[in-house]
Amino acid sequence: MSNIFIISAPSGCGKTSLVREISRTYDFLELTVSCTTRKMRRGEVDGEDYHFMTAEHFMTKISNGEFIEHESVYDNYYGTTFSSIIDITNTGKDALLEIDYKGMLAIKRIIPNAISIYILPPSLEELKNRLIQRGLDTQEVINNRVSKAENELRYSRFSDFTVINDDYNLALSSLKSLILYKKINQNTDLNRLNRHFESC
Ligand code: 5GP
Repeated sequence: MSNIFIISAPSGCGKTSLVREISRTYDFLELTVSCTTRKMRRGEVDGEDYHFMTAEHFMTKISNGEFIEHESVYDNYYGTTFSSIIDITNTGKDALLEIDYKGMLAIKRIIPNAISIYILPPSLEELKNRLIQRGLDTQEVINNRVSKAENELRYSRFSDFTVINDDYNLALSSLKSLILYKKINQNTDLNRLNRHFESC
């Protein structure tokens, strides 16, 4: 039986690096590829980092009921398709989702046994420093992301587990231990996902 792991965090918490490292470490995990309307960043590959698409294409997918969840994040649309999860779980692997907290809550409503892990920054000040050092966003976008993060952090209590990314290696070890622990102990209710999929 396959599991669904959802990892969520405000941007700048080191989530992407942690998630990539984990999916490289464990062969049984495969990252889902989300759809987005945001512009491709330097170094990103269509179909690997995201399925990049126009807003019209995204809306068609919504109308076709292809998304298990979709959200507007930082003024762009992001969504996880049913097929991106099912294609992975059908191979017997566990699906690893890196999505925002609203997507995490939406999926937990449909699949309560999905395992949600929220990554926290050591502080909001540290989060701001990291976003500045990352150099991907303008000052305005950074301020916007930090104030949104402040709001988002309130939702961390709804996740099954939280990991503070103060020390990267420690956070990585905690995540790995959690995933192995849950892999051994819990199986996601895929029948429920399939039933939901069929009803759409
Ligand atoms: P970025 O544009 O920096 O890659 O991602 C911005 C935010 O969108 C991140 O918090 C990321 O986790 C979230 N995100 C990525 N894919 C999805 C998705 O399919 N659904 C939702 N709800 N959020 C997503």
